[in-house]
Formats: sequence, C-alpha cells, structure tokens
Amino acid sequence: MKTYPYWWEFYKPYHFQNTQVSNSSYDLVVVGAGYTGVSAAIQASSKGLKTLLIDQLALGEGASTRSAGMVSGGLNLGKKINLFKDYGEDLAKKFIQESIGSYEYLEDQINHHLEEVSYQKTGRLVLAHSKKKLDALRQKTKLLNSLSDLQIQIIENLDNEIINNYYKGGMLVKNAASVNPAKLYNFFLDKALSNKVDIFSPCKLLSHQKKDEFYELKTSEGKIKTLYLIIATNGYSEKDIGNEHYNIIGVPSYIAATNILGQEKVQKLLPKLRMYSDSKNDLYYFRPSPDHKRILFGAFPVWAYGMENSKMVKSFFYKKINIILPKIENFSIDYIWGGKVGVTFNTLPMVKKTNNKIFVLGCNGSRCGSYALSWLSSRKYDYYKSK
Ligand SMILES: Cc1cc2nc3c(=O)[nH]c(=O)nc-3n(C[C@H](O)[C@H](O)[C@H](O)COP(=O)(O)OP(=O)(O)OC[C@H]3O[C@@H](n4cnc5c(N)ncnc54)[C@H](O)[C@@H]3O)c2cc1C
Repeated sequence: MKTYPYWWEFYKPYHFQNTQVSNSSYDLVVVGAGYTGVSAAIQASSKGLKTLLIDQLALGEGASTRSAGMVSGGLNLGKKINLFKDYGEDLAKKFIQESIGSYEYLEDQINHHLEEVSYQKTGRLVLAHSKKKLDALRQKTKLLNSLSDLQIQIIENLDNEIINNYYKGGMLVKNAASVNPAKLYNFFLDKALSNKVDIFSPCKLLSHQKKDEFYELKTSEGKIKTLYLIIATNGYSEKDIGNEHYNIIGVPSYIAATNILGQEKVQKLLPKLRMYSDSKNDLYYFRPSPDHKRILFGAFPVWAYGMENSKMVKSFFYKKINIILPKIENFSIDYIWGGKVGVTFNTLPMVKKTNNKIFVLGCNGSRCGSYALSWLSSRKYDYYKSK
C-alpha cells in the first residue's frame, strides 16, 4: 500500500529554485506555496510586483495536492458558528455570497483547461445521517437558494443515488464539481512560472521583523528584505508566523483510495458519480476517481496523524467504507494519505492586514486569496504614488 496521495501519480511535488534568496530584496514575499500562495504570487507578479514565493516543503506538498478535489462554494462557510446571529443579516449574506462567488471564480480561472485539470461538473450530495440533520439541510437549502443560483434541492428518497440504509436523505447541489487537485495545482504553478515569479523551495520562514518600511525575514536560506509580506501557510502554520495573529489549527484529515474496482462497479455503488459528504461531525466524504475506476474515501480520524501505514488506520477505513458502501464487497486499499485542513478558531476564512503584512488563512472553500491581492495591488499603487 502507498502512503502518498493517489494524485501524486499525476503531479508529484518537487523542490525548485529559479533564484538566489540570501540577501535579496523584493516588493512582495509570499510564504506558503499552496493554492493560496501561488494564486497570490500570480496576481502580484501580473500587477508588476517583484515577487518571491517560498515554501518549507516541496511545491504543493501541503494540503493543496492532498485534498479530495471536491469543488463547491457557499456550503461550508463558518460551519461552527451562527453567521446571522454573530454578524447580522447583511454581513452574513455578504459572506455567503462571497463564498459562493469562489466557485465561479475558480471556473473562470480554469476555463478552457477543464480536461487538463480533470474538472467534471458532478454536483455534490450532502447526506443527512439523521432526520434532524435533514431538517437542518432543508433550512440551509432555502437560505442558499434565496441567495444564489446553486440550484439546491432536497432528496428524500436516495434509491437512485446511493445503495445504503444509513442516510435519511440529502441536499443536492447541482452547481458543484470535481477536480484532480494535483493537476489543478500544477496548472497554477505553471502560470506562476510563466509570470516570472521567483520561487524557492525548500525555504522556511523562521521569523520576521519590521524595520522602517521593510520586513526583514529570517529564513532557512538566509535573510530577505521585502516591502510586503503575505503569510499563506494555512494548516501548516506554526507560531513563528506571528504570535499575534496565530489563529489556526491544522486538523488532520485522511483519504483512502481503493484498488481499481472498474467503472461498472463504481457506477453501481454511486450511480450518479457525484461528490458526497455527510452531515455528521466526524465527517466522511467520498467520490469516484476522475476515471471512475476507484473510490476515494475521506475521514477525520484525528488520532491517526502520521500513522497512515498502520493496521489500525487501514482497518478503520475498511470498516467505514463497508458501512457507507455495503455493496462494495471485495476490495482492497491501494493508497492512504493524510494532510492538514486549516481551520481558524471561528471557522471563518481570515484575511488580516497590518503594516503591509497580510495573513490569508483558513480559506477552505472561499476566495480570500483574491481579497488579499486586490488590497495589495491598490497599496502598491499608493506606495509608488507617494514616492
Ligand atoms: C485530506 C484533505 C482533504 C481535503 N478535501 C478538500 C476538498 O475536497 N475540497 C476543498 O475545497 N478543500 C479540501 N481540502 C482543503 C484544501 O486542501 C485546502 O483548503 C487548500 O489546499 C489550502 O491551500 P493553502 O494554499 O491555503 O494551504 P496549503 O496547500 O496547505 O499550503 C500551505 C503551505 O505553507 C507552507 N508553510 C507553512 N509554514 C511555512 C513556513 N514557516 N515557511 C515556509 N512555508 C511554510 C507549507 O509547507 C504548505 O505547503 C482538503 C484538505 C485535506 C488535508
């Protein structure tokens, strides 16, 4: 069994340097080269900023090439809080609309490259494990339909969707999709390279300090000076990113990929070949592979971090897959891997800016990366205007 992501058969994260960083000077340094950091670097370089992107690991080795590749917007915002109660109706609606906008934003970015990144418009079925949860999904459906054209509907009878007595119904989101996350990462990385972004991996940010109008960064590869700093370290953040804004936990999540079951068997188990998640707190999520020959099954056994190769983790997955997809019968597991999902303390995405430093964290399913950049590009112009 392999303990690296199935997706790495298509793009394997690698170390890369197209510059020297020691004693260098930049307009912008982006720390963390996942989707967020790479997207920020692309936009900054296209606005004319001299931009450096660094990562302590290989390029994409964080969460961005480890995910399940389920694409949606608006569904997962502020899961653990009541947006309306905590922020008031107007702001709550704006948050949700912005999050829904992230879905269109991504489609816009990869337009004309859908096959290259294995983008498939599959829809997403959120399955209710109890009647109470189904009622909650009903309310959510009403709200989201009133704010968007996600075309959400409640499905009471799941016979045509999944063969299993476990779920009590579901919420079907038609405007949702799937992607190969590693191919998607490679697509954005290529864009960054053709935009002439300077890249250095591995290079770890150890500390940073403001001196006059610049930040001085201490990294594993030497000192770097920069006018602007973006911290996009998400679930892999450590306190050295700045204690004052350390506001994120890397919650481990794991995915198992079955052996090749074949398209016929996969389609029998999941006739509509959608993306699936469930409403329970220790969430399961599953999907067919893009070629529809395997099933990828995700879960949050947080006790298992770093134990991907153990018998315990393997038997956990066998057990859960058999409960959720009882007709799967003979199967084996070819891959199990883990990654860290960045969850902020209030479960909302965080874009925080102080003194030309921007933290962009916890944007799982949102588009705060682009917020940060629109702010940054306007600042760049202000800076030059003032010179
Ligand atoms: C198992 C799993 C399944 C998931 N499934 C889905 C899904 O189906 N759909 C979905 O939308 N999302 C999913 N997610 C979440 C999604 O992967 C993340 O939202 C996304 O990848 C975050 O991108 P990012 O660039 O913010 O962070 P990351 O890709 O994690 O990048 C952060 C980078 O920062 C680097 N870094 C940290 N500290 C430093 C430092 N001091 N110096 C230099 N570099 C540093 C890390 O090495 C890392 O590469 C899943 C995540 C996991 C782990």
